[in-house]
Formats: sequence, C-alpha cells, structure tokens
Amino acid sequence: MTLRLSKLFVRTLKEDPADAEIKSHKLLHRAGYIRRTSPGIFSWLPLGLKVLERVETIVREEMERAGSQEVHFPALLPAEPYQQSGRWEAFGEGIFRLKDRREHDYLLAPTHEEAFTMLVSDLYSSYKDLPLSLYQIQTKYRDEARPRAGLLRGREFIMKDAYSFDMDDASLDASYEAMRRAYINVFNRLGLPYVVVEATPGAMGGSGTHEFLYPSEVGEDTYVRSDGGYTANVEAVTTPLADPVPFDGLPEAEVLETPDARTIETLVESANEVSPRSDRPWTAADTLKNVVCALIHPDGEREVIVIGLPGDRAVDLDRAAGTGLLGDGEVDLEPATEDDLKKHPGLVPGYIGPGNSLDAPVLGAESSTGIRYFLDPRVSEGTQWVTGANEDRKHVFNLTAGRDFKADGYIEAAEIREGDPAPDGSGPLQLARGVEIGQIFKLGTRYAEALGLNVLDENGKSRVVTMGSYGIGVTRVLACLVEEFADDKGLLWPVHLAPADVHIVATGKGDEPLEAAEKLAAAVEAAGFRVLLDDRPKVSPGMKFGDAELLGVPNVLVAGRGLADGVVELRDRFTGESTNLPVDEAADAVVARLREQYAKQDAIELL
Ligand code: ATP
Ligand code: MG
Repeated sequence: MTLRLSKLFVRTLKEDPADAEIKSHKLLHRAGYIRRTSPGIFSWLPLGLKVLERVETIVREEMERAGSQEVHFPALLPAEPYQQSGRWEAFGEGIFRLKDRREHDYLLAPTHEEAFTMLVSDLYSSYKDLPLSLYQIQTKYRDEARPRAGLLRGREFIMKDAYSFDMDDASLDASYEAMRRAYINVFNRLGLPYVVVEATPGAMGGSGTHEFLYPSEVGEDTYVRSDGGYTANVEAVTTPLADPVPFDGLPEAEVLETPDARTIETLVESANEVSPRSDRPWTAADTLKNVVCALIHPDGEREVIVIGLPGDRAVDLDRAAGTGLLGDGEVDLEPATEDDLKKHPGLVPGYIGPGNSLDAPVLGAESSTGIRYFLDPRVSEGTQWVTGANEDRKHVFNLTAGRDFKADGYIEAAEIREGDPAPDGSGPLQLARGVEIGQIFKLGTRYAEALGLNVLDENGKSRVVTMGSYGIGVTRVLACLVEEFADDKGLLWPVHLAPADVHIVATGKGDEPLEAAEKLAAAVEAAGFRVLLDDRPKVSPGMKFGDAELLGVPNVLVAGRGLADGVVELRDRFTGESTNLPVDEAADAVVARLREQYAKQDAIELL
C-alpha cells in the first residue's frame, strides 16, 4: 500500500496546541494525527488511526491467545444495572448521564462490568459454560475533573476491557494469571517499558489487583520499589504495626502550656522551650498530628472523623481511601470544611488531641465527641507523643498510645517517603512516577451478586459466579509510546507500529526524482510493505524533510540531489545514520532492512 502525501488528509503544524504540556500531546497534534474537539475529546485523522490500529491489533492478538473472545457493547447504556451495583451513585460526577425522550436514565459507560455480567447471566446457566473470558476494544466516557495531557487523560478514550467468569477462586486465579501474562506479552510486543505493581481496588471493589505502569515523569501515579523486588502503587503500600512496647517505666502524661503552638513547627519550638528533653531536642516526629476529615459514605452521608499520625508526615488521603479500612464499598475522604468543624465544638482547632487519659477520651466512637478516631500504624502501642490537650494553648506530653488513648482502627493516611522500609522487609523504598496503562482485578462475586449472575454447579446447586476485570487504556498507551520514542524532531515509531514502513521523499527539480521515488515505492510495495510517498509538487526540500521527521516513519528514503550520482539516501530516524544506496539496489536494500526489523519483532519471546 502506498499513501501519497499529495492526497493524504493531513496538515502538519508549526505551533503546539495552546494547552499542551507534554510531548505526546504536542507532537500528535502537530503531526496531524489527532485534533482536539473539546477538552479531553479528540478526533482521529488517517495517520493516527493507522497507528491506533496497529496497537489494537497487538492487544487483540494477545487477548485471543489468552483465550478471550471479542464482543462489542454499546457505549450508551441504561442506568438500572449501574443502580443495582451501586455505581450509579458511586461514580458521582465522573460519568456522563443523559435521559431519553421517555425520561429514562442512561449513561455513557465509563467501564462495562455491569453490562457483561448481565449478558452472561442472560445466556449462561451451568458450570459447564465456565470458565469464560470476553473482551472488547471500545470507547469509554468519563467526565474527568481534570482532562489533561492530551490522550493521557481523556473524557472519551479507547479501552480494551476484558472480563472473566469462573466457578471458584482457584479458577479465577488461573484466569487472572492468563491475563497478567497476556498484558506482559502486549507491552513487550509494543516495546513499551512497564512495571507491575500492587494496587488498591478503588471504586471497583474486589480482592487482588495489579497495575501496569509506564515509568515516566509525566505520570500521575507514584509507585515504590525496593531492591528486594517489592513494587506497589504508593496508595497500596501498607505500614506494618510495630510490636507493643511495655508501659512499665514510661513517663506519665503531663499537660503543659504551649502558647502560640497551633502548627507542628511552632509546637516543636514551644516544646523545646517549656519542656526540653535531656537526650535530644523534640522534633516533628515526636508530635501526634490530628487531622479532621470528612468521610463520604456510599449513601452520601458525611461523617466527620479524625486521623492521628506523626507530625512529620504529610497526609495522603488517597492512601487512606484506598486501603479499604474505613469500611466496605467506595468511601471518599476529604479534608474537613469550616462547616464540618462548626458542627463539632468539642474540637479545639490547633489543640486537637485524643484526650489526656483512657477514662476521658475526647476522640473515638465511645468518647465525649463520638467522633471516630483512626491512627496511623506508626502510632503503635507504647509509643509516646506530644499532642493537643483539647484546650486552647495547651498540649499534652508523653501521651502514650494504648495507655492513655486508643483508636477505633488503624488507617494508612500518611505519605510514603523515599527510604521508608518495604512492608515485606525487602529493603528501603524508592519512589518513582508512572502512567497507569493497564489494571487487572479479581472482582470476586460483587457484580455477580448484585446482578444475579448464578449458575448451577455439578450438584445442581445455584452458585454465584466469581469475576475478574482487566483494562488497558489503548489511546493512553499510544500517547505513552510517543513519550517513550519520539525525539525533539518529531514523532518516531518502531516500524511495527508506524503508519508506514518507509517514507520516500521525492525532492529536487525535473521529473527524475519523482519518477525514481515512484519506482522505489512500487518495488517496496510489491514486497508487501507500506510506503508513505511524499510526491507533493512545489514543496521545498526543507519542508519535506521536516515533515518526514515530524510524521515519525522510522525509515526515510530520499530521492533527490544524489540521483545525479546514481544514489538515493536512506536515513534511519532511530540512529540518525544515513547511507547512500545505488538507485537500482535501493528497493532491495530497503526491503531487506524492513524484513530484519520485523524479524526482531517476531523474535520477542511470549509467555
Ligand atoms: P486513572 O487512575 O488513571 O484515572 P483508572 O484506574 O480510573 O485510571 P481503570 O478503571 O483501571 O482506570 O481503567 C482501565 C485503564 O483505562 C486504565 O489502566 C487506563 O490505562 C485507562 N484509562 C482510565 N481512565 C482514562 C482516561 N481518562 N483517559 C485515557 N485512558 C484512561
Ligand atoms: Mg485503574
């Protein structure tokens, strides 16, 4: 196939889009691959579609290899199944909702667990039908609060979503493993670097889950790794609870005046003045910071809670919401507002503490305020703290966890820092950023239960099916490929993803260059490869070379000035090397090179 630039629907641009922050957004726009329609919503132009198709083909082939069967669901779905699963509410403002002419509620699906569950429930009724794995490559809609970075976070985007249906946990484990391998194959074939990390279930519910992240500074996810091989999304890192320290011999709690100590910094200063330690000065790590938050329950109820954590740690509410310790279902955690605080006059801003003795707790379900109190696991039994005395201008010293105060539970609400120990003892953690390109979930029975997906087992007994759900952000992956491969000259695709295998540029006066280019194109095409031919008349060589670099085909063949000496020039965009080839050998040489490039691709070992 030969694409002719004289006819191709493409317009290369000099200017980056006004709102573009990252390379992939800028280059895909400037190279005429995509065009923004509205925030987070893009149109796909011919060259963009060609690359997208190549990415989709790899995803499709690996899904099929893993035994998943392709289906295609509508994007427009009735609200009822999502109401039944609880996600109509849980998604909040995150979904596009609409009504039909009869005033029935619909949504543009953000993901399809409910729809797949319903379909399988409609058609299947026996254990003999399982296990089953289905997938689709389909357009998803999410009304993201902050669509950003072009294709990385769109409001309309393409996802590959797969779903597995099994009779029991062991069978689900096998389905999950098959998908994990399929994902590894997909990303290896794409040539995109990735890390697999432990993740938190978030709004999906379920037990085990892993994310595939593309390591990159443009990512919104932070993950950790240790030298011993532990990897996790920072949201999923758990802090082991230390063994209790006996209370014997620990100093008694003591309330002291600490004027002007409403912040951790001023509290540390004040503590070192009013009660200096003999061994070392007080630091922020000795203080217990009590953070007031609002916990939003699935039914919308707003509960004020307090979280106690070491004063030297920042609060990370995403970690708190992700650990599932606050209860089942999706809960959201927000910083408390002025209104929340007004409703609880027992909380003295700047001087909040759990209470100065076990007998008179100020925080906790059983306390005078009734406000539930959660602790960071670092505040383990026997640790001693400087914290608020619930009186203006006063703090309590040596307040001892387990002896003087207790919590309603432990929660991960403190930031993870570089050098923190890995929970499995595999060494200190390093932090890095990444883009979530895929996630695999063991959903368990949550959706099957909510939507009545049961089948009869060997004994004729009705059993709830257990499910898995597996997503890859196809358009996001395409953007990551640009982040990975493109250079400062423009897009740059590995040949197996490129919109063409070779970009032939005809440039110079007279008919000769175009004739030579046409001949080369015909020969390369006859060998089964794809050509992008720059046959545009009256376009300057500089412009043509610039466009060739911007459009990103990795092999560029120039039929121009060299023809006078009987040669054409082959440029390798990846290495920057350029070779002169005799005109009549050029087509064979290019074909040989392409075969070599594709052979490397075929040699990738698959799981
Ligand atoms: P994120 O945390 O980035 O919002 P998510 O965890 O909500 O993503 P999933 O529900 O796990 O996303 O969806 C499966 C995959 O779809 C993700 O791993 C990601 O690659 C892709 N994806 C999700 N949201 C978007 C989006 N707004 N734009 C592009 N791709 C997306
Ligand atoms: Mg996810």
